[in-house]
Amino acid sequence: MKLLLHACCGPCLLEPYDALVADGNEVRVAYANPNIHPRAEYERRRDTLLEYAGAQGIEVDELAYDTDAWDKAVGGLENDPARRCRACFRVRLGAAARHAAEIGCDAVATTLTVSPYQDPEAIREAGEEVCAAAGVSFLVTDFRDRYPAATRRSRDLGMYRQNYCGCRYSEAESAAARERRQAAKRSKGTEA
Ligand code: SF4
Repeated sequence: MKLLLHACCGPCLLEPYDALVADGNEVRVAYANPNIHPRAEYERRRDTLLEYAGAQGIEVDELAYDTDAWDKAVGGLENDPARRCRACFRVRLGAAARHAAEIGCDAVATTLTVSPYQDPEAIREAGEEVCAAAGVSFLVTDFRDRYPAATRRSRDLGMYRQNYCGCRYSEAESAAARERRQAAKRSKGTEA
């Protein structure tokens, strides 16, 4: 089928794209990620994706970097990651779904399900909801078993690999988690 694959970044594109093509789909890619903060980070992830896609002859559509709409969608959920991420998925997959309908794709899938850090059930719920509204299908996937291969391949290719999910809240949450891990290591070293 004609499939629009929402891609969050270059490393996460590698395995899902290959799997969906191997399944016989005609795959086009959409970079729809107004969640990514700051703009320089958004552009860095986009350019990493475009460089790989260009070398492989993969078609990519960059959709609007509408940070105001994203901020509005997650407003009030800043400190509630589970609900914030669902709202975030709806914004990104919703943009992809509307674009898919406009360009005549049958369905939408997302690279988000290659990440063991994302909730596949929340992605499925958001994807089905926004795709139904746009009049296309949502292809439910789970690429998590391909995460090690995606990590290895992206490292081998020298791709930029980010250390936080994307939004300003995840940037702060990841930095705090790293700090906690380092503090735990330091305290272990002191005890030894
Ligand atoms: S943590 Fe990731 S999925 Fe959740 S709101 Fe932030 S960017 Fe979106």
